Amino acid sequence: MALKYEDVIAKYEPVLGLEVHVELGTESKMFCGCNTVFGAAPNTQTCPVCLGLPGSLPVVNGKAIEYTIAIGLALNCSIAPFSRFARKNYFYPDMPKNFQTSQYDEPICVNGYLDVTIDTEEGPKEFRVEIERVHMEEDTGKSLHMGGATGRIHGADYSLLDYNRAGIPLVEIVTKVITGTGKYAPEVAKAYVSELRDILRGLGVSDVKMEQGSLRCDANVSLRPIGVEKLGTRSETKNVNSLRSVERAVRGEMIRHAELLNNGEKVVQETRHFHEDTGLTTPGRSKEQAEDYRYFPEPDLVPVAPTPELIEKIRASLPEKPSIRRKKLQDAWQVPDKEMAAMINADVLDLVEATVKLGADPTRARSWWLGEIARLANEKGVAAAELPISSADVAEIVVLIEKGELTDKLARQVVEGVIAGEGRPSEIIQSRGIQVVSDDSALMAAIEKAIALQPDVAEKVRGGHVPAAGALIGAVMKETKGQADAAKVRELLLKHLGQA
Ligand code: ZN
Ligand code: MN
Repeated sequence: MALKYEDVIAKYEPVLGLEVHVELGTESKMFCGCNTVFGAAPNTQTCPVCLGLPGSLPVVNGKAIEYTIAIGLALNCSIAPFSRFARKNYFYPDMPKNFQTSQYDEPICVNGYLDVTIDTEEGPKEFRVEIERVHMEEDTGKSLHMGGATGRIHGADYSLLDYNRAGIPLVEIVTKVITGTGKYAPEVAKAYVSELRDILRGLGVSDVKMEQGSLRCDANVSLRPIGVEKLGTRSETKNVNSLRSVERAVRGEMIRHAELLNNGEKVVQETRHFHEDTGLTTPGRSKEQAEDYRYFPEPDLVPVAPTPELIEKIRASLPEKPSIRRKKLQDAWQVPDKEMAAMINADVLDLVEATVKLGADPTRARSWWLGEIARLANEKGVAAAELPISSADVAEIVVLIEKGELTDKLARQVVEGVIAGEGRPSEIIQSRGIQVVSDDSALMAAIEKAIALQPDVAEKVRGGHVPAAGALIGAVMKETKGQADAAKVRELLLKHLGQA
């Protein structure tokens, strides 16, 4: 039986290190003019530079440098007046040059921090995550392993290579060692990636789509017995691609490490793959040391030396922080702290905002995203944002509820229909024949039937015991298959029984 999380944290202190790779949203690649459109036909966005053909020479994308400086400034980093690219040598089929152009000992941004807040039972808690560096590099191509059951190389018959992604600008953001989070380590890791994603989105430097891999997190986790200074051996879970998975991967690794340590075994320093279905990790390759990469300064590129004027210009153009934006939304919507935290935690804040912008009442928009839709997402083990329902769909539903054309119960059927892929709300209302019964005579018929079936209850209500009306209203709602407006039924019923 797996060790309980409480037992892990009673004995060990988790130590984290997070490395986030983000694909920049520039129109062209990092060192050549190729397009960067996601999902283009394989190998249609390549040229001699990003294919690493002999004699081709790279040129740095100026926009990518400006974006990286903006990221560094937003993360409270110092911007190096002089930094260089380096070659990180290793052989892999998806990397045509056999080296990745990256930055090594001279990164462009250093020594920043990001404050994150998590929602705990004792109220909101703030943690400062220190940033060691932000550097520029390029993405690799993509290997597609064909013929096997899993899409992994094991069991595949052959592999295909798509170099469209090779050379896309990447920024890597590396934290310092994160200590002091205790039992909140998984939540802090998630909150950090979430806050970072919001900052990057606010800067407009990336589309930050985790599911498409434009933002991915490597989570380093180690444990040390409480009170011990020396760091334990870490594992690095690679390319975790959803907020939920970041939290699960950290928690899962903490438990796995603790089980090993409790059994007197050693944690192996290695990379691990995270599996969405099981929430577990399996070993990848044993971790290379920096010296294995034979880093050396890139001779084909000039150093990066941004002028102070450029840095100040970028600083002046930074957008407001996500925390300020959230505060404004909270004030505008009049939302209590707890609910605000719940929205952030469920990662539906942007969805609610978009729904409100499309005309929905903020309270209703929030309660749909945090209520029924979150519940369905939970049932399917995905995030609400991953369900095939848009803020436009929810806005349409909320507006129909406000107009009295849908009851909450009917609206739930519409939500279910949208998620099942039956179309837009209006189409589902049509095809499923969903309709609110507000016609008084139809409602009265159902009310009279309910009274006839429960005359004793009706008598109680007549006698002034109004709470008993609930049973009759319930019967009417059942009779009308939930299509009646409950408030209207109540009003008619009480009037009929002389109580209004
Ligand atoms: Zn190219
Ligand atoms: Mn990297």
